[in-house]
Amino acid sequence: MEKIKQTVERARSAFNSGKTRPLEFRIQQLKAIERMMKERERDITDALHADLRKLKYWSKQFSIPSYLLNSYNSYTYEIMVVQLEIEEAICKLPQWAAPQHVEKNLMLLTDEAYIHHEPLGVVLTIAAWNYPFALIMHPVVGAIAAGNAVVLKPSEVSEHTAKLLEELIPQYLDKDLYPVITGGVPETTEVLKQKFDHIIYTGSSPVGKIVMEAAAKHLTPVTLELGGKSPCYIDKDCDIEMACRRVTWGKYMNCGQTCIAPDYVLCDPSVEGRVVEGVKKSLVEYYGEDIKKSVDYERIVNKRHFKRIMGLLEGQKIAYGGEADEATSFIAPTILTDVNPNSKVMQEEIFGPILPIVTVKNLDEAIQFINQRDKPLALYVFAKDKKIIKRMIAETSSGGVTANDVLMHFTLPSLPFGGVGNSGMGAYHGRFSFQTFSHQRSCLIRSLNMEMVNKIRYPPSSQKKLDWAKFFILKRCSKSKVGLVVFAVLGVLLAVAIKNRHSVLGLRCLLAALARQRLWGLERGCRHS
Ligand code: NAD
Repeated sequence: MEKIKQTVERARSAFNSGKTRPLEFRIQQLKAIERMMKERERDITDALHADLRKLKYWSKQFSIPSYLLNSYNSYTYEIMVVQLEIEEAICKLPQWAAPQHVEKNLMLLTDEAYIHHEPLGVVLTIAAWNYPFALIMHPVVGAIAAGNAVVLKPSEVSEHTAKLLEELIPQYLDKDLYPVITGGVPETTEVLKQKFDHIIYTGSSPVGKIVMEAAAKHLTPVTLELGGKSPCYIDKDCDIEMACRRVTWGKYMNCGQTCIAPDYVLCDPSVEGRVVEGVKKSLVEYYGEDIKKSVDYERIVNKRHFKRIMGLLEGQKIAYGGEADEATSFIAPTILTDVNPNSKVMQEEIFGPILPIVTVKNLDEAIQFINQRDKPLALYVFAKDKKIIKRMIAETSSGGVTANDVLMHFTLPSLPFGGVGNSGMGAYHGRFSFQTFSHQRSCLIRSLNMEMVNKIRYPPSSQKKLDWAKFFILKRCSKSKVGLVVFAVLGVLLAVAIKNRHSVLGLRCLLAALARQRLWGLERGCRHS
């Protein structure tokens, strides 16, 4: 345990050396991760296969011709998402890290006011096992881009990936700045005793509370990426078959062990049967008649989770699936109907290949059903009518929403990813990661001139000084206001020009000036977005 303390201390003194400050250094480290993923792709996919039977290049387990085998599941859902995050960071880092100038009041008009993003220090990232490579490397990219040292604590449940990361990371990244700590609960508990400048934790809500408690002792800020029951409302008038294709893909991917998988379906009783048929049809299309033989279908991570998921089936009406094999941790894609909202399967996050269908009379009842429960990590709504989608978004709350599809909001680095309430706090991905792992430092650089203006704040006070203070401080001087004033002046000039039947040339000049003002306004809007 002393080793853990020393490892964190080493990371801190490496950070304190200032090594991570230059953007070039951060980009070099990000490129090193890219190189690691390229050169060691086969090792990574092998480890993922060993942990979760994710599809990999060469499977000796099945007598399938090698040309049929690929690493699709491992590559797209584990490596590609990290690659995308790195590309985004490398491309946008100079822009993210640049000083962000802000509006000023009249008193500070000639001064420089801006936000400077500075690294926090040493970040701890604790990850879950379900996407064991992506879940740890994704936040690491953002933390490195923001200039931090990062201690990586992969999940002990996905032990092969954890072991591989312990071996690979020091081969490619700075050894002191980015150490990997492996082990289980005792090791994580010991790591959490150390002081960090930020902790990002991905996993269950109960452990999230343990992490937050440990962080509070050092006043360390946390980002908690937790889980929950993500609902999926299917409107009776939408293309049910299309909805089922998309739901089936997101629900049974990684054997249902995806934090943002649709947990259950809410629909009108009149379409329940069509939903069952649609999901069944899609399952056969994606995995074949004998799902057990499909190389695209993963397994439950361990016996504990196998037993937990099987326990959720007790007393339920199985409309499809239900087969299981404990020896190989196989649970078939399963659909439940006539589900009682108070049953066990509706009380906890399923995190497995079981899809309960709960019937509701209409959209109002669906909204009420969702709002009576903890705020979910994701919410899905399938509807032809956009008004239904907008109502669902306006009248409920969740970490994120995708309408007419599932999971896809996760793939956009321009959207923050995170939970709300019981599903977590804070967010990351792309620019949001950079912000999460940076301190937004307020900087004001004043000049030593203009002391006359400052006199109004020095004693002795007077009513006159107060009037001046109101004028200088309460009147904010924003570019848009300056733009409006210019617009107004030009408008007056234009009116005068028309009234006096000025030369066409003069009129043209004025119109051009107005157009320039408008363009300037648009450009500003773009830069701010
Ligand atoms: P897990 O068991 O792998 O635990 C996650 C981490 O917490 C591990 O590194 C482990 O060492 C540590 N840990 C476990 N128990 C601990 C304890 N008592 N004290 C200190 N540390 C401890 O993962 P899990 O909790 O089974 O993960 C599944 C959950 O994670 C699901 O609820 C899922 O929805 C959620 N999840 C969320 C996201 C997201 O992005 N929001 C992503 C993946 C998973």
